[in-house]
Amino acid sequence: MLPHFTYVRPESVSDAVRQLTSRGARIHAGGTDLLGCLRDGVFTADKVVSLSRIDSLRGIAPSGGGGLRIGALTTLAAVAASPLVREQYAALAQAASAAASPQLRNQGTIGGNLCQRPRCWYFRGQFRCARKGGDACFAVSGENQYHAIFGGSSCFIVHPSDTAPALVALNAQARVVGPAGERVVPLEQFFVLPAASVEKETVLEPNEIISEVLIPAPPAGQKSAYRKVRGRGAWDFALASLATAVVVTAGRIAQARVVLGGVAPIPWRSEGVEKAIVGRRLDAKIVAQAAEAAVKGATALEKNDYKIPLVKGIVTEGLTALIEPAAAKGRTDE
Ligand SMILES: Cc1cc2nc3c(=O)[nH]c(=O)nc-3n(C[C@H](O)[C@H](O)[C@H](O)COP(=O)(O)OP(=O)(O)OC[C@H]3O[C@@H](n4cnc5c(N)ncnc54)[C@H](O)[C@@H]3O)c2cc1C
Repeated sequence: MLPHFTYVRPESVSDAVRQLTSRGARIHAGGTDLLGCLRDGVFTADKVVSLSRIDSLRGIAPSGGGGLRIGALTTLAAVAASPLVREQYAALAQAASAAASPQLRNQGTIGGNLCQRPRCWYFRGQFRCARKGGDACFAVSGENQYHAIFGGSSCFIVHPSDTAPALVALNAQARVVGPAGERVVPLEQFFVLPAASVEKETVLEPNEIISEVLIPAPPAGQKSAYRKVRGRGAWDFALASLATAVVVTAGRIAQARVVLGGVAPIPWRSEGVEKAIVGRRLDAKIVAQAAEAAVKGATALEKNDYKIPLVKGIVTEGLTALIEPAAAKGRTDE
């Protein structure tokens, strides 16, 4: 059962920020994550601040300089279906359409998808784990098959969002509004590792709102893609995922941003893969080197070592899809 709380529906972002300054206030966007957490006692709320009446938070439109602005209250279904997103930012359209189920995508928003809380069963269950103010991460010696192989320390959650790795690959930013005004935060710096803060997943303060996501104009010739491996064909969170945004010039990778999902407490930028492919003409040998680089530094827990070959596989698959037909027939670089 849901606990009692005050429910307010401000009509402007500034009013919403004002409402959030009281202790125990929480933002409600689509509610698909928030209401489950409140019902299950994962955390409490004295006041729930609905964003639903703030029309300025909705919509997808070109922004200055050839980029795109997506209002935080835009649903995942709208993001996935947008011709602007599909044409210029395929990775985001693919990620949004791979998230959750059709019903959840119709209700869940892009802002909520970035700020959803972790899915770790100890965090969601009746356990006072480190993320809930306790002393230990129970996943370390417990049921850890879905947990992190990178970036864990005092906590081994994986970041649950599909759109986050895609947006980091696309070099997107979040506009954040709070009592002190606005700031624009690159999404690459938006998520925080447990070593920096074990009780929050983002740099947001409790009284700050993401108002919009800003994606820069894609560099000429950029191709982006999102691949997700899940345990079953129906809705499910990623066991591992891969977002790529690459520019190929004269057959060589000129630029690359490669981000893994489902394997770390934050979208995990794989600079090892980027270094292995930038400046190279992709072929089977380079792809194999990149796949090895992708798992360098990975540390498996007792039950999640399958994620290491899984990451290698998803990187191999994602990069192989970029190989030109002649190279795919066996030509090697240099
Ligand atoms: C069964 C199930 C399966 C799912 N599977 C997937 C999946 O495969 N992939 C995936 O990516 N997601 C998945 N999800 C998560 C789902 O996509 C998110 O619940 C949804 O995107 C959250 O959006 P919302 O608008 O409903 O957020 P809400 O539930 O309203 O909010 C979620 C959190 O974000 C905060 N918040 C919301 N909007 C803002 C904002 N603008 N600024 C600051 N904070 C904000 C809220 O306070 C809350 O803490 C699944 C969820 C369920 C229930």
